Amino acid sequence: MTAFQNSLEQKLIEARRTLHRFPELSHEEYKTTERIRRWLEEAGIDILDTSLETGVVAQIAGKPGPVIALRADIDALPIQEEAEETFRSVHPGVMHACGHDFHTAVMQGAALLLKEQQEELEGTVKIIFQPAEETATGAQAVLQTGVLDDVQAIFGLHNDPHLALGELGTKPGILSAAVDRFRITITGKGAHAARPHLGTDPIIVGMDIIHRLQTLVSRQIPATESGVISVTQFHSGSTWNVIPETAFLEGTVRTFNKDVRSEIRKQMDLLVRYEAASHGAEAELDYQAGPPSVDNDPAWTEFLMEKAKSNGYKVTVLEPSAGGEDFSFYQEKIKGAFVRIGVEQEYGLHHARYTLQEAALLPAARYFAGIAPEALKRILSE
Ligand SMILES: [Zn+2]
Ligand SMILES: [Zn+2]
Repeated sequence: MTAFQNSLEQKLIEARRTLHRFPELSHEEYKTTERIRRWLEEAGIDILDTSLETGVVAQIAGKPGPVIALRADIDALPIQEEAEETFRSVHPGVMHACGHDFHTAVMQGAALLLKEQQEELEGTVKIIFQPAEETATGAQAVLQTGVLDDVQAIFGLHNDPHLALGELGTKPGILSAAVDRFRITITGKGAHAARPHLGTDPIIVGMDIIHRLQTLVSRQIPATESGVISVTQFHSGSTWNVIPETAFLEGTVRTFNKDVRSEIRKQMDLLVRYEAASHGAEAELDYQAGPPSVDNDPAWTEFLMEKAKSNGYKVTVLEPSAGGEDFSFYQEKIKGAFVRIGVEQEYGLHHARYTLQEAALLPAARYFAGIAPEALKRILSE
């Protein structure tokens, strides 16, 4: 390892630890944004003028040519950290429990390495430090600025505690679930608890709706497809001797296929209304579509896997994950692929004791710095 790389590794570890100590929630990443800007500016890297409140888009422009993008996310989670590192969060109730501090440091490293070869680059590399991935709103915010309008391919990463150090996982096609949220408001008719026949009990309506929702996947979706519907909140009533007027349900739908996703939504809407009506109540479904599935372009995925092998990674073909990732919004507009990089860790993502192996930092930075010029060449030769 050269002295430059040695000091680069130190720099990236320090950057990651600083980000980790001062985590900020989605759309509140002001200090994080300032830090990233400062680090990039110190290295003479151009920062694009966007209308983003938080988040940074850097650019390394070489010769005239194609434009590609690399993406990191920068936000943290509302979790009280329980890990015991010296650099644990100093912000109560906020923590980098999803390793976005790692992603930011990786792409900072890639930017520094690409800066070294700016003159030879056969095109332009934009490096996105995206806000608000956890609320699945940051990617759309970046897209709306128009800063990616000229981008022809996009690549991103997530750290993965279940993959070994030196392991990289991905797959062509669907890699993550579409993540939707729903709320159901049931309006019945309040009554004395002793005389339920004079009212319409919204708790019974809610129970029936929850029960029916559980058979929606098993009875309406082909056996070869999959999905999950989870009701995670059920609130109604305020005392022991009154049948309440209303009930409120909330939950999430996870799917891996566009048609299944729209079918579930359609069926849910019917089910909620008719189930309530059969009780003489009314119910309204508020369905909020979140990020679609990460859908990796097969050719770019193969490219990423090949480059990973030649960079010394052990490459694993993953199963799709039921988690969500708003990188998918970029893929609706730009071809690209997403990989998971092993950080070998016993706790899962979003755990209060989540931490990761920093030895994965420099190789990942070198990997992304390495694929960028190759991707530009590939587009030129198409
Ligand atoms: Zn997360
Ligand atoms: Zn994450």
